Amino acid sequence: MRELDYIIVGGGIAGCCLAFQLAMRGRKLLMFDVHTEAAASSVAAGVVNPITGKRLAKSWRSDVAHEFAKRFYSALEAELRVSFYHPRKILQLYKSGEERELWESRSRDSSYAPMIGESFEPNTFCGLNDALGSRIIERSAWVEPPVLMSAFSSYFLGRGMLVREFFDVSKLRITESSLRYGELNSKRIVFCEGWRAVYNPYFSWLPYRPAKGEILTIEGSFELPEHIIHRGNWLMKCSKNLFRTGSTWDRERLDGSPTESAREALLASLSNFFDCRREFSVRSHEAGVRPCTATTRPHLGAHPADARILSFNGFGSKGFALSPYFARAFVWHIEDSKALDAEADLNRHTKKFYRQKLPAFKDGMAL
Ligand SMILES: Cc1cc2nc3c(=O)[nH]c(=O)nc-3n(C[C@H](O)[C@H](O)[C@H](O)COP(=O)(O)OP(=O)(O)OC[C@H]3O[C@@H](n4cnc5c(N)ncnc54)[C@H](O)[C@@H]3O)c2cc1C
Repeated sequence: MRELDYIIVGGGIAGCCLAFQLAMRGRKLLMFDVHTEAAASSVAAGVVNPITGKRLAKSWRSDVAHEFAKRFYSALEAELRVSFYHPRKILQLYKSGEERELWESRSRDSSYAPMIGESFEPNTFCGLNDALGSRIIERSAWVEPPVLMSAFSSYFLGRGMLVREFFDVSKLRITESSLRYGELNSKRIVFCEGWRAVYNPYFSWLPYRPAKGEILTIEGSFELPEHIIHRGNWLMKCSKNLFRTGSTWDRERLDGSPTESAREALLASLSNFFDCRREFSVRSHEAGVRPCTATTRPHLGAHPADARILSFNGFGSKGFALSPYFARAFVWHIEDSKALDAEADLNRHTKKFYRQKLPAFKDGMAL
């Protein structure tokens, strides 16, 4: 029997950030991760953006979480000896006069000041459609998901902390003294399965609203500024002649299959970035499902019937921006009894959505 402090189910960005911070504390853990359909982290863009949405709202907890993400990823780059975190400004191309006015009003708001940079007159950027002007957003970054996720995998595999196996939740055995799974005996289990939480018998009662997103990688020989360019969608240079653009939203078809309709929509929006016709070819087209929630806040904390069974999930469209900070808060919560951010604490949903009678577990039986 292998004795563990933690079993972690799911090795996307959420599970990896959490496992890494627990490993730093010397905890004995084993993470289960296989690629399941439509997992999000492997296809994500990895943009950290402090101002989001049509209302140009400050991204939730960006003040603390983005600063922490920067420090965490930079330290991780040194530890893993890879480069994946790139501070990159966003160049916002105005789509309409109303949008420009909204940006101007935000620039007069002192709470937005650190994030709002220089504004530019129309037609400043050669080749781009900036006919209505543009503006820089500061404090943004690009995390390269494939590089980071592959470095995380090597780190955990090399330390015997990761198995490439599907975790079959129906085989989890719960007794008063332990959580057993095959030859493993663990003090706690944390579920970080991304959108597949909707199938998890312990946490599917939480209000998830997963959303599929699709992204294109294109190849073309045109030049673009080094910024992440935003105009409804975003367009970003990844390497010489390679660019990514995205992304779509679909709450109906939750699968990992790229669709023709999303491809057409992305190609149509791509032409809006440029002031003339550009030649490019589509190199790849990917889809994933974001673990979005009804409240747009993560679902963190313990199961109402058993504090050893936990959820660290629900990062929606911001997993790369928020997971490092909330992984630290989560570790402080379970290991040092510090309170969770009340908006992210899954307890807030228990009264309304949790229907099991307590206690929910019988000795040795899963729910
Ligand atoms: C098109 C698109 C663009 C995005 N762009 C951005 C962006 O620019 N910035 C940003 O911050 N976020 C972005 N996101 C969101 C981001 O990808 C997610 O918030 C994040 O990846 C969620 O991470 P996760 O670890 O919770 O879930 P996932 O990445 O889905 O990881 C869950 C992992 O658990 C595995 N798993 C599940 N069940 C089991 C099981 N039973 N046994 C073993 N393994 C299991 C899955 O296969 C997967 O590997 C984007 C998402 C999409 C789809």
